[in-house]
Amino acid sequence: MKKRIAILGSTGSIGTQSLEVIDKNPELFEIEVLTANNNVELLISQAKKFQPNAVVIANEKNYGIVSEALQNEPVKIFAGADALNQVVQMETIDLVITAMVGYAGLIPTWHAVKAGKNIALANKETLVVAGEIITSLAKKNQVDILPVDSEHSAIFQCLIGEVYNPVEKIFLTCSGGPFREKSKEDLEKVTVKDALAHPNWDMGAKITIDSATLMNKGFEAIEAHWLFGLPSSKIEVVIHPQSIIHSMIQFEDGSIKAQLGLPDMRLPIQYALGFPYRIKNNFPRFSFLDYPTLQFEKPNTKIFRNLALAFEALDAGGNVPCVLNAANEVVVQAFLDEKIEFLKMPEIIEKTMEKVNFIKNPDIDDLIQTNTETRRIAQLLTEDKF
Ligand code: NDP
Repeated sequence: MKKRIAILGSTGSIGTQSLEVIDKNPELFEIEVLTANNNVELLISQAKKFQPNAVVIANEKNYGIVSEALQNEPVKIFAGADALNQVVQMETIDLVITAMVGYAGLIPTWHAVKAGKNIALANKETLVVAGEIITSLAKKNQVDILPVDSEHSAIFQCLIGEVYNPVEKIFLTCSGGPFREKSKEDLEKVTVKDALAHPNWDMGAKITIDSATLMNKGFEAIEAHWLFGLPSSKIEVVIHPQSIIHSMIQFEDGSIKAQLGLPDMRLPIQYALGFPYRIKNNFPRFSFLDYPTLQFEKPNTKIFRNLALAFEALDAGGNVPCVLNAANEVVVQAFLDEKIEFLKMPEIIEKTMEKVNFIKNPDIDDLIQTNTETRRIAQLLTEDKF
């Protein structure tokens, strides 16, 4: 039986790499649903090639173009954010790859989990914002959440066969991004172009900026907390500039298990899609001789303040990680639009975290409200109007 797959965000970096994996394994996978927001050309060509049951274009303004281009194809076409929430519930879907970027991925993922669909989770913001709600719902509905993030995939892989062995701590490895060796003074001058030039990974713009500020690693700590049930004291971030060790687990006897490989997102994507089986492939192989030195460093949370803020949010709990995420989305967009400077990002996030009311046990409506209110405050702060 082929696994029938929906990809939320099929036109992005994770979405296109997922399609590459699926294209190479037609005997294992079949595409049911593809979705995009604005990239109509790519969505149309993907739909023509993969012949899904349905496509969704989230931005309704693009509906006309997509429906005209696909009028002779046997593909249902829907538009709008709510269509994403509906389409993930289709009976024919076995697994949903959540490859949308940002908060926008939360509600469709929530609907997919409610409908009992297994999730290959790339959209880390889902667990940052609503980790408690999503993981407890997944448990209740016996839904598997299979990590796509390379670090979490590494930890997931290292945990196999270790059900009787408690984890002492995990090491989340982090490339350090393009500014690893920069001082605070240097960071005052960096441009959007500099920040988008990640040394090891080719990713969407938002996660690339998050990698440069180390917010991405902070988000991953929160994601690891929810996926593996670990407190922040058992999650350590280690800078590893070569991105060869994808993450590690230390057990109670001091033994450390690591998962290694070249930085290539197709591997963790393929692992999540094929789980519990490993699928043979011809991706380039790692050679130890090409990497005679693997380095490790402590992250500097005084310069990369976002990492510390994310750990604070994790420890505070409640709606604070939702505030962290919403404020971050606002400042990253403002930075990409060249409206604020690089170091303004953590400053505004911290101020926003101080201003939004704390909710200890938020439900999904509280989180939706927190997201809206936080964006309003963060937006005013980016415009110096608060
Ligand atoms: P991209 O920006 O490359 O792609 C985002 C996708 O989401 C696109 O298909 C885009 O459509 C769609 N999208 C954006 N906004 C909306 C919206 N409001 N409604 C509906 N669809 C929308 O992102 P990435 O692939 O880099 O990242 C996706 C997720 O995976 C993120 O959460 C990221 O943190 C995570 N991740 C990414 C990794 C990577 O290597 N890229 C690694 C690990 C995790 P369109 O193209 O039409 O705009």
